Amino acid sequence: MSEPSLDRPSRLRVAVVGAGTSGLAAAWRLRVRAPEIDLTVFEKSARVGGVIGTRKVDGFLCELSVDNFITTVPYGLDLCRELGFQDELQSTNSRYRRTFVVRNRRLFPLPDGFMTMAPTKLWPMLVTPLLTPWGKLRCGLELLLPRRKSEEEESLAAFATRRLGREAFDRIIEPLVGGIYGGDAAKLSLQATLPRFAEMEAKDRSLIWSMTKSMKKARKTKREEESGARYSFFITLKCGLQELPERLADRIGRERIALNRPVVRAERLSGGGWNVVDAQGRAERFDAVVFASDSGSAASALKESCPRVSELYGQTDHTGVAIVHLAYRNEQVKRPMEGMGFVVPTSEKNGVIAGSFSNYKYPSRAPEGTTLLRIFVGGARAPETVEKPEDELIRLVHTETAALLDIEGAPIFTDVARFPNSMPQYYLGRLAWRKELQTAVDAVPTLALAGNTLDGVGLPACIKSGYDAADSVLNSINVNNK
Ligand SMILES: Cc1cc2nc3c(=O)[nH]c(=O)nc-3n(C[C@H](O)[C@H](O)[C@H](O)COP(=O)(O)OP(=O)(O)OC[C@H]3O[C@@H](n4cnc5c(N)ncnc54)[C@H](O)[C@@H]3O)c2cc1C
Repeated sequence: MSEPSLDRPSRLRVAVVGAGTSGLAAAWRLRVRAPEIDLTVFEKSARVGGVIGTRKVDGFLCELSVDNFITTVPYGLDLCRELGFQDELQSTNSRYRRTFVVRNRRLFPLPDGFMTMAPTKLWPMLVTPLLTPWGKLRCGLELLLPRRKSEEEESLAAFATRRLGREAFDRIIEPLVGGIYGGDAAKLSLQATLPRFAEMEAKDRSLIWSMTKSMKKARKTKREEESGARYSFFITLKCGLQELPERLADRIGRERIALNRPVVRAERLSGGGWNVVDAQGRAERFDAVVFASDSGSAASALKESCPRVSELYGQTDHTGVAIVHLAYRNEQVKRPMEGMGFVVPTSEKNGVIAGSFSNYKYPSRAPEGTTLLRIFVGGARAPETVEKPEDELIRLVHTETAALLDIEGAPIFTDVARFPNSMPQYYLGRLAWRKELQTAVDAVPTLALAGNTLDGVGLPACIKSGYDAADSVLNSINVNNK
């Protein structure tokens, strides 16, 4: 432990490291619950928002990373309302709530009622060209399979194959879940990523039975159903999601946000509290610290002061993705598909993970008469793709989408955004790891962690992790949570 290097200031001081969604949520909670506290948010880059970014060019609105967020967990929606975004909230276009799956470079509709891991309607499964008759039969056998006895973590691939068969996994489930995590389903932990399916098996034995039951219940309560991703449960901001961190930063107070100040070290002081040291060697004293930067950089900054936290937090693997936007005039697209987007199985071997028809999904993202596509490439299946030169990436994506939609001619607009190492992978062993990490963090009460490496990668989960971290440090310094 270091000796205190600075005089102790009279007001309690809290540092938040990282001004992405998680860090801003933590800072916002601190401002709301303890406005008397002296707060500083350290941010490595020149802007707030972390991976969130919106680019508006020539009438096109491109969401560079986060496109929308789920509303079944309240934190995203509630925060938007709290910040006064009511009029900007935009639901997906109900006319196009369909997802396609690529097979042999052609698009096929995901069978109506197929929800991530299991079908909930018989007829669409019987007639889908995505599966062979044997594949359909094997899928149907799921209704008769016994439940698994072991409570050990299981990979998404092992679980889905065991319950629904290899064909349904390879051709439908793998591309659906791969699209969400950009990861390798043979390594991702079911219990850490989609725990509700493990719960369904434990409770009702059959996923098909369990989901059909809950769909019926949902219909009763007038909730809409659709295949694949639950689009009616996703929303976005019409003005672009970058406005969310911008408004948060305004409300937190820009003067409290120190841009271009990467934290390289957090030293624990013998009298309690922390010295937070930036890349220029400037040190500031704080009573508590929230690390909401990516887990790798937090682990590095905590290496000397909290070796166990650092060791564990630094263990998570990440994959990277690139998002390529391509726009065409409508008449160039000879086979338009009326849907939200498509997912691509790894077996197609083209590096593309998924795509959305951006302006079908959210009208007003492209000028009248044009079609805007938003394509994910890379992930665990083709990490090298993310680093390809821009023109190569555009060519690759254009070639693949031109084949799918029968597009003639070159795109009239392109945009490429890269996110290397930005998607944490919740691999097998996560549950034990998470407990161990929490024990190590709890041993240092004035330290809290927030971010997408912890308990969910979606925006609402990150917001919650920021709130929890803020509450934890307020408790540690005896500030009553309002
Ligand atoms: C391509 C992509 C698409 C996605 N799409 C969706 C989606 O549609 N819906 C959804 O809900 N979620 C989506 N996600 C997930 C979600 O966006 C992220 O999990 C979430 O935004 C992460 O927020 P964060 O604050 O934890 O991390 P980040 O956004 O990575 O923020 C971390 C911040 O810490 C800063 N930082 C790093 N090191 C330091 C340091 N040493 N000192 C100071 N600052 C530092 C960084 O500069 C950054 O600003 C997507 C993610 C990606 C990558």
